[in-house]
Amino acid sequence: MYRSFTLRQGETGNMKILIKDAHCIRHLLDKEGEQFLTVNVLVEGSVISKISETAITDSVDSIIDAQGLFLSPGLVDPQVHFREPGMEYKEDIESGSKAAVKGGFTSVISMPNTSPTADNPDVIKFMADRSNEIGICKVYPTGSLSFGLAGQTLTDFTTLKAAGAVAITDDGKGVQQGELFEQALINARSVNLPVLDHSEDESLSNGGAIHKGYISEKHGVKGIDSRSESAHVERGCEMSERTGAHYHVLHISTKASIDTVKTAKRKGVRVTAEVSPHHLLLCDEDIPVKEDGSLNANWKMNPPLRSKADKLACQEALLDGTIDAIATDHAPHSPDEKSQHIESAPFGIIGLETAFPLIYTNFVKSNKMSLGTCIDLMSKKAGAIFGIDCGRITEGTAADLCLFDLETEFTVTEKFFASKSKNSPFIGGKLYGQARLTMMEGNIVFKN
Ligand SMILES: [Zn+2]
Repeated sequence: MYRSFTLRQGETGNMKILIKDAHCIRHLLDKEGEQFLTVNVLVEGSVISKISETAITDSVDSIIDAQGLFLSPGLVDPQVHFREPGMEYKEDIESGSKAAVKGGFTSVISMPNTSPTADNPDVIKFMADRSNEIGICKVYPTGSLSFGLAGQTLTDFTTLKAAGAVAITDDGKGVQQGELFEQALINARSVNLPVLDHSEDESLSNGGAIHKGYISEKHGVKGIDSRSESAHVERGCEMSERTGAHYHVLHISTKASIDTVKTAKRKGVRVTAEVSPHHLLLCDEDIPVKEDGSLNANWKMNPPLRSKADKLACQEALLDGTIDAIATDHAPHSPDEKSQHIESAPFGIIGLETAFPLIYTNFVKSNKMSLGTCIDLMSKKAGAIFGIDCGRITEGTAADLCLFDLETEFTVTEKFFASKSKNSPFIGGKLYGQARLTMMEGNIVFKN
């Protein structure tokens, strides 16, 4: 852990809370095996003090009846945009944190494309302190790779790390200058931080709004060539091999990029990759046409929804272990911004509240993936990218926990979202896996 999140005065303090009769999986409790079991978990103050398969008879302040619910370690999201400082009308650290815990996330990694940019220790410290003060969810800031995300001058990674940055990235923009990117990898390696790459060669993406293919041509919308991503992923893997730096591919979306990561991993290159639920479940053919004949901008994000073949390649990579983590790339925008024409609307969709239900419903409930693997991709393995030790429910560790309801179907509506923004392509979807209770360091931060 890079820093500890302390309880606010007057909250749970040293309260004892018993979580009774929850379903869990053995390996999530650090025990051998994948079998389900029923457990009782005692939380004292901010930590888990006792885990037992038999009744816990200690006197407690409160009991949570978890019968029929699945107990998970708090989820970790490697990529969110909380918009504070600077664009609080879309989201702020408080509303973003509420959206996170509603989705079962207790830790998120926030991107530096705020205003001002998180390219200096003051902005990083502000984000970390603000998150600590709110005390709902752990928000780990990242520092930008270049000043102002302008791709011209490298920031000082040593001071960014000292202020609390857990990674270096210019997310929101690709780094166009290869030499600058390689120097960033060298510098990041020397301070032991991963470099997160929004892989986009702008000479190939060419100001496009959606994936370049049949759909972009049919609607006369400027397309983003899939090579714009894979060219930068190739560059990053080669540079990682040369420099030994940890290179992480943000929101991977194309078959070619996945093939490159697969090959690099086989060679032992220090590369990791994340995929987002929307790239696993949607493709460009799914973008709905509005009444005026234009395309709905709530299906617009960067990288864009790709071809069906790319979507299937993402699914295959998720199931064969190429993918290290699932990231929402939670990117809130106001209804006014998103109701514009698809070419002028901003990129991005929200995703914190729907991520686990989408993955659970489409991959676990349909028997393509085990629940244990799903939780690992959304907690332990996601945290490991940033050196955050989490994802197991063990005695003596922070009580970051979530109880999920895997049995009750629910419909995603605009009202469902805790985020300030509602720009989701999954509204109307029927899913399973809603969080019923989320606890962050012993505090109940969400209950439904
Ligand atoms: Zn990005």
